[in-house]
Amino acid sequence: MIRLSAPVLIATALAGALVCLAVGCGRGEVAAGEGRSELTAVVSVAPLADFAHSVGGDRVEVVMLVGPGVSPHTFEPTPRQLKALSRAAVLVLNGVGLEPWAHDMVAAVQNPRLRVVHTAEGLDIIDAGKGGRQGNVGNPHVWLSPVCAVHQVEQVKDVLTEVDPAGADTYRENAETYIAELRRLDAEARRTVGTFSQKQFVAQHRVWSYFAREYGLVEAGVIETTPGDEPSPRGLSELVETMRSRGVTAIFVEPQLSQKAAYVIAAETGADIVVLDPLGNPPDCGYLDTMRANLRKIAQAMR
Ligand SMILES: [Zn+2]
Repeated sequence: MIRLSAPVLIATALAGALVCLAVGCGRGEVAAGEGRSELTAVVSVAPLADFAHSVGGDRVEVVMLVGPGVSPHTFEPTPRQLKALSRAAVLVLNGVGLEPWAHDMVAAVQNPRLRVVHTAEGLDIIDAGKGGRQGNVGNPHVWLSPVCAVHQVEQVKDVLTEVDPAGADTYRENAETYIAELRRLDAEARRTVGTFSQKQFVAQHRVWSYFAREYGLVEAGVIETTPGDEPSPRGLSELVETMRSRGVTAIFVEPQLSQKAAYVIAAETGADIVVLDPLGNPPDCGYLDTMRANLRKIAQAMR
């Protein structure tokens, strides 16, 4: 069943705008959802909205579902979003369990021409780990590795080309341009992380696993094994123990989830709290700007 939560979304949109300023993104990257185009692509999360807008350009109207300040793990669609999906050509998802609500949405709108693409498909998926969600399908946060993001951009390009062959050249050229940017970001991240003296961190949930795998960082533990669920007192004390014995000094938290437990752990261990945004907020905070802001903050904490 799909419940409605428009006031919540508005409130969190305002909170998200503030958070966005706090994490220090640049402005004016993309304009997802603006303009009038024939082809509508509904996308789940902000990074995918940015990819779809970058590849689709003026040919595609991008409608982003999970708005600023909202976690995809706790999201619920609005009636307006269902309406957009009912006339969309494409639904761009991440997959790997990030959008457990997508199935009900697709069933509810009964749009026979809707093409659904899971952009993480084909990637080497990391295990969700102990205590993960029921029906453990793996860790969904692939886009936080710029290398995996390249794959996702290619998936977006392929599905747009499929539903709109007349735009094939545009999509290919736009994808090439954007992928070149991703490769630059990847090189920057590799260079920056290479200089770190500290490689270990604790995360709010398993959001930085792909980033860590790509660049050789070590996720020493997570606060929430299921995102959005408060840890047990025992889980907390075990994590504090791990951090002390391994000398972990950084806790990566997210603006979209409660940071209460992280502050308790920080007080116990003296570790730094680093607020990183795994989603960003296009148009003001596109993927590239968001990742560069994250990288700067990680570098400050780990040097
Ligand atoms: Zn997550």
